[in-house]
Amino acid sequence: FTTRATVAGLGDMGRALAAALRRNGFPVTVWNRTPGKAGELTAAGAREAAGLAEAFEASPVVILCVVDNEAVGELLDAAGDRLRGRTVVNLTNGTPRQARELAERVTALGAEYVDGGIMAVPPGIGTEASFVLYSGPEHAVEAQRELFEAFGAVRYVGEDTGLAALYDLALLSGMYGMHAGVVHAYALIGSAGVPATEFSALLVPWIEAMSGFVKEAADRVDRDDYTKDVVSNLAMQAKAFPNLIEASVEQGVRPDLMEPVLRLFRERVAQGHGDEDAVGVIKLLRGES
Ligand code: NDP
Repeated sequence: FTTRATVAGLGDMGRALAAALRRNGFPVTVWNRTPGKAGELTAAGAREAAGLAEAFEASPVVILCVVDNEAVGELLDAAGDRLRGRTVVNLTNGTPRQARELAERVTALGAEYVDGGIMAVPPGIGTEASFVLYSGPEHAVEAQRELFEAFGAVRYVGEDTGLAALYDLALLSGMYGMHAGVVHAYALIGSAGVPATEFSALLVPWIEAMSGFVKEAADRVDRDDYTKDVVSNLAMQAKAFPNLIEASVEQGVRPDLMEPVLRLFRERVAQGHGDEDAVGVIKLLRGES
């Protein structure tokens, strides 16, 4: 492989990205704001740029992976004419609006802009389970497909630059929803002295069994039908759910993660939709009736 890439930002993720490129034989230039983070990478054959300007100029593909898009903005402030003709790939977590604004800035600097969302933790980069979402000009993504494959599967989601961030954040929403439930479950069971590891023997298969919900909910949402074949109607759930809150408080566990769910259930029931499946709360989230 001959495509040279620059990785700017050598936090946990930037180092993992640069290491994956080196493992796949790509020539890599690295840069970090605070020096001293490139040791293992230079040992693996990466070249450390003396400054950001040199890092930008070193490669036709410039990968940015810093803490947030404000930091990306600061890197671009220093770009001057040095990104002209290059492809800037921003793998920093951010919002769709930020991605679109950065695309405008980068395009004005004479470069192409690809936005990306990394769906892996640093040790997972380049493994089977890892994938990265990309949005922006399709030809720019396709031109770098081989390079991108070093990070994991390439998932191109569309020309709208904001889409990778939107897909990323929607996936994270699913993840954090699960985190919230799991953390609450451990706090609740732990209030009786049951170790979380012991309880996980029940919780893991329970969540696996519940995962069918994801597809069933999708079918309801796309059909916009929340009343067909309902087996656990919302009125019943809105009656049972307070037990979860009440028991938490009684056991000395804060119900903060669960309370918003009950609030939405009750609001939907109050609107006269007690016969629906709980997925119907999506109407409230969307501001529909
Ligand atoms: P770290 O906290 O490990 O590293 C942050 C990096 O950002 C450092 O290189 C830091 O440089 C740099 N940085 C911060 N502010 C600036 C600035 N103003 N100018 C230049 N550089 C700056 O974070 P990660 O590497 O883990 O995360 C990087 C991105 O990857 C984030 O957007 C994150 O959301 C995303 N991501 C991370 C995942 C993870 O599990 N770690 C998973 C998926 C996405 P310095 O050393 O000088 O402080």
